[in-house]
Amino acid sequence: MRYIEVTIKIESAGVEPALAALDACGISDAEVRDPRDAEEIMADKETYEWDYVDEKVSENIGKKPEIHIYRESVSEDMDREFTDLVKSVMKKISDDASSGMYGPVDFGEIQVTEEIKDDSLWKDKWKEYFKPSHISEKIVVKPTWEEYEAEEGELVIEIDPGMAFGTGTHETTSMCVRALEKYVRKGDSVLDAGCGSGILSIAAAKLGAGEVLGVDIDEEAVRVSKENFDLNGTSDVCRAEYGDVTKGVGFTADVIVANLMAELLCMISGGIVSHLKDDGIFISSGILCEKEGMIRKAYDQAGLSVKDVMHDGEWCCVIAEKK
Ligand code: SAH
Repeated sequence: MRYIEVTIKIESAGVEPALAALDACGISDAEVRDPRDAEEIMADKETYEWDYVDEKVSENIGKKPEIHIYRESVSEDMDREFTDLVKSVMKKISDDASSGMYGPVDFGEIQVTEEIKDDSLWKDKWKEYFKPSHISEKIVVKPTWEEYEAEEGELVIEIDPGMAFGTGTHETTSMCVRALEKYVRKGDSVLDAGCGSGILSIAAAKLGAGEVLGVDIDEEAVRVSKENFDLNGTSDVCRAEYGDVTKGVGFTADVIVANLMAELLCMISGGIVSHLKDDGIFISSGILCEKEGMIRKAYDQAGLSVKDVMHDGEWCCVIAEKK
């Protein structure tokens, strides 16, 4: 769909009057992006115990608030008319502010800009940033739409993640792949807990696993995983099923790999022991470095002993076995 985005840049004091004036002429769906919100979020980061705050949030700090209005683009004339209407409303409140109508406040210079956008284009924008990349010694992930000539000894995984998580380029995934490369032996059974795009199941199969089960609570991830298994010729070894790892699955494995959140890993650690064969290996990722202590404690109580820990940036991957 083509649509027009009108952006108003205005000082904080002007946001409410601007919204009221827009509302008065029938524009009631304006979206406000106020950097003060971002500042509050950052100040509250500790309170929420968020693992991740989008860079875009912090990028906006110190900038002027923005009001965004979106309309379907019907014709150039109507787009221009709409922008002109917004401009005239802003000019009116700016003049009113100068004449003291809003008290001793300054709205600053109000800028109004317009841009025509096409969401059928930006829906696929992320694809430009997903390039073939080496994520472990042997494994290269390649998006389906890029060409890549494999060199000797390289194992290439083709992925179209669709809406599922797992291009392989995230640190938490690539550490799992490096650990799989180290621990999967020929013929092993592997459980991929939270398979996302299916990337870890495929990596396990390419590294010699004999049977792989990927489970996910997201039906879309299960569908995408199956597609990626076919694409990589691993459907004879890998299957994907709907499954909630907190409820257990009917599968015991030589290797369990789980790229989930630290809290969820702690929660399932007791169940992992019963899904792991006696000399099995548990590869767990998605853990912020500061949560390594919490993980170690939970695993110890669950009957798992930590064998190896990998670090990459702010993330770590904890590898454990049964005590
Ligand atoms: N294994 C992929 C995807 C990791 S993202 C990779 O490493 O790149 C985590 C995945 O776990 C998501 O697809 C999410 O839907 C799934 N998930 C979250 N909670 C789950 C649960 N309780 N049971 C099964 N899957 C779960």
